[in-house]
Amino acid sequence: MDAGHSYLLSYRPKPLPDELFSSWLIRVAHAQGLKLQTFCHMMWPEAMIWNRDCDRCASPELRSSLADMTGVAVARADATLLTSYEGILFRRSVKNGHTKWILPLGVFHRVRRRNGLQYCPQCLADATPYFRRAWRLSLYTLCERHQCLLRDECPHCKRPVHPHRGEMGDRKRMAPMGNEFCWMCGGDLRDVGLGKPIPESLLSLQRYHSSLLKRDIGVSSSGDSCLYFDCLAHILQLVTSKRPRMARFRELLSQGSGVEITSIEPKASCPLHFDAFSTYERAQILQAVAWLFEDWPGRFRALIILGKLRSSDLSGEHKQLPEWFSSAIRRPMRYKANLLPGHRPFRGNPESSEFEDGFGPSEFLRSKLVPADYTETKTRIGADLAREGAHGK
Ligand SMILES: [Zn+2]
Ligand SMILES: [Zn+2]
Repeated sequence: MDAGHSYLLSYRPKPLPDELFSSWLIRVAHAQGLKLQTFCHMMWPEAMIWNRDCDRCASPELRSSLADMTGVAVARADATLLTSYEGILFRRSVKNGHTKWILPLGVFHRVRRRNGLQYCPQCLADATPYFRRAWRLSLYTLCERHQCLLRDECPHCKRPVHPHRGEMGDRKRMAPMGNEFCWMCGGDLRDVGLGKPIPESLLSLQRYHSSLLKRDIGVSSSGDSCLYFDCLAHILQLVTSKRPRMARFRELLSQGSGVEITSIEPKASCPLHFDAFSTYERAQILQAVAWLFEDWPGRFRALIILGKLRSSDLSGEHKQLPEWFSSAIRRPMRYKANLLPGHRPFRGNPESSEFEDGFGPSEFLRSKLVPADYTETKTRIGADLAREGAHGK
């Protein structure tokens, strides 16, 4: 084969809905009956693909070459990368370093040292198991389709999931193992017990976030989603802060929400903050935040009073915070702190309607009124895929 030149492959798998670049590339290689490394070496002998996070930084040449070979539009190939969240989840992705919300892989040569790729055991039981783009986000802890917690390690050997290493380094093994098996121990990744039911508040919050990321229906069309996600990251940073004052806040939040988060130890001087926690820990923290959002700003203010926090404790060094957050920490504290055990939580906050500035807690609450199956409707990208699938085979 002629390296790097465009021609159509005999077998041309297209990216599946929300498929991650690396997952697609693996399927393309295996569809030709080749090992992944052999395929990549034949096609792009000079390219550095697996010794970096290719889902973040695959070169434009690699993307367009794979798009040409498989007969898909370059825009569709680009949509498999994590950089496609630019302008929606974060403003710019960081080329060399950590991008907020993206789970770090801890790439060291061809090894990944961190649990940066999550998966749903039930989605991997589909006829064509593949890895989703959203599974690389710290914001995602659930599969909305199967309503189960995502996993971030092999249930057997507890190693991170590395689908690209399925047959790597094993000369005898020609056939790939399949995405549903652990590269290290060969164990079945789907082999997990039934987990606890997912709390409704956590599911609703993730659905809200999905609708923002997909620019979906059910939320207002105006607003700056990056500003919302920046502020959410700020709140998560406050909740997981090592500062003693914020430890008290975490304790009160745990008490009020009934979600155990006090034992979730912030990593010492870890610049990754929330993105460094396990899936289970992030799910706990997000559930506690969902509880705050369900009666914003009443519950948040009550914690501020009980924790004797100043607005400077809460604003941090953030220059730009949305009005729904800055007014919640700025306004006079008129609420009675009745969140201690034995007291009923806040209900029907009279000020909720004041916070109408685009994406935020009040819109999250409104989105909960949209019928739950709205996540099943085809997104813009989903509809494009369906059209292309119908004509492009
Ligand atoms: Zn699933
Ligand atoms: Zn394993």
